[in-house]
Amino acid sequence: MTIAPTSRSAPAARQPSRGSDLNADAVVVGAGPAGSSAAYHLATLGLDVLLVEKGELGRDKVCGDGLTPSAVRELASMAVDTTGWQRNVGLRVIGGGHRLTFPWPEQASFPSYGMARPRAQLDADLAAHAQRAGARLLTGVTVTGPVLTPSGRVVGVDAKPTARVEAPGIEAPSRLSAPLVIDAGGVSARLATAVGRAKNERRPLGVAVRAYFRSPRGDDEWMESQLELWDGKPGESDLLPGYGWIWPVGDGIVNVGLGSVSSRAATTRIDYRGAFARWIANCPAQWGFTQDNQTGRLASAALPMAFNRKPHYADGLMLLGDAGGMVSPFNGEGIAQALMSGRLAAQAAAQAAVRSTRAGREQALAQYPAALSAEMGGYYTLGRLFVALIEHPEVMRICTRYGLPRRRLMRLVTKLLSDGWERRGGDAVDHFIQLLTRMVPAA
Ligand SMILES: Cc1cc2nc3c(=O)[nH]c(=O)nc-3n(C[C@H](O)[C@H](O)[C@H](O)COP(=O)(O)OP(=O)(O)OC[C@H]3O[C@@H](n4cnc5c(N)ncnc54)[C@H](O)[C@@H]3O)c2cc1C
Repeated sequence: MTIAPTSRSAPAARQPSRGSDLNADAVVVGAGPAGSSAAYHLATLGLDVLLVEKGELGRDKVCGDGLTPSAVRELASMAVDTTGWQRNVGLRVIGGGHRLTFPWPEQASFPSYGMARPRAQLDADLAAHAQRAGARLLTGVTVTGPVLTPSGRVVGVDAKPTARVEAPGIEAPSRLSAPLVIDAGGVSARLATAVGRAKNERRPLGVAVRAYFRSPRGDDEWMESQLELWDGKPGESDLLPGYGWIWPVGDGIVNVGLGSVSSRAATTRIDYRGAFARWIANCPAQWGFTQDNQTGRLASAALPMAFNRKPHYADGLMLLGDAGGMVSPFNGEGIAQALMSGRLAAQAAAQAAVRSTRAGREQALAQYPAALSAEMGGYYTLGRLFVALIEHPEVMRICTRYGLPRRRLMRLVTKLLSDGWERRGGDAVDHFIQLLTRMVPAA
């Protein structure tokens, strides 16, 4: 027996689930963008889905909050109401003595604008959206591990009420059962790790810190990336490690962050907080990046890249978003990929649900990793090469100084960096990228 979907117009007050309510067609662990996207699409395709989140709606998540046109495209495919969300018109890049703007182009597959939304709001919006579509959302519920058959197939999860959450979605430790379990639990990938799907240490890993400030720059309609961060006067002081961003997220607030990436999952020994403090101390005073204007804490997290955890489906367990290492090595963006993985996973699950044999069902589920690979495999192999180049500061400096002013080259780079290239058709630049991604083995 399953609980009937809640009203499609507004999320119902959450009721604790008991006993047989805890069976579903799919259990999705984690209500970040990946989990909520999967839950939304699964529910829309008619499957009964439990969406389990250890936090409460509105929990914070360390992120730059930037949504490129490819993320906006995914939001549109979920029919998310984005009225009032902060929009941006493109990317401003500063470095090597240059200051250039790259407007998002109007394309067949992508809109000519990006967005930004603080994750506390974005994730709450998406989870509620999935709930309105019919997913059963359990917040304040921590999944502790997979339930395995003797042959090692994942057929559910064990879960318990999260300590310190006032009204958890279950009252006591419980077992949630489903023929399909989805790990959308972010970089910790608890379920994947528990079944031995370790991260590939030879894939790139990013680390970044961010903080929010009230700032006059909150009105800026561009996302700004700074390729060189100075420890004093630009050009006359030392360069700090990493790259920075300043992204308006609405209501006069900017998300300011700094990150770096390495081609292996090795720790970089960079003092991110120290570098962040020195960078913002040297930003123009009128931007207002002061302690008084800071809202919330400075926090850091890792960005797992280029499919660093695979397989994305085996033995009843799918990996989505950060759990499957899907952050782009080109730009550190992971929301679009998380949303996309939810859509692709749900499409495969819906096909599996109508198969009458176990073998047919497995074939349908295997379409999920195949679709991911077709969409991103070659692109992420190129991304790994890109990271191997830019992790050398001297290479990066030469690229910044001599590459940035070359408009045609930068059109190519901007499409590559923002994942804004057409997979089919498009212009000469799109064709060139399609060719490149086909020439390399999939990541
Ligand atoms: C500093 C920084 C800046 C970034 N900036 C950007 C950006 O500007 N744009 C962009 O596109 N990407 C950015 N990223 C990457 C982006 O944040 C991630 O790729 C994205 O959040 C991945 O979504 P997800 O749903 O896979 O995982 P998450 O967003 O991490 O969601 C996972 C969810 O699972 C829940 N969970 C985990 N374990 C359990 C459990 N055991 N039981 C129940 N629930 C559990 C968590 O509470 C969480 O809600 C940035 C990352 C960092 C660190």
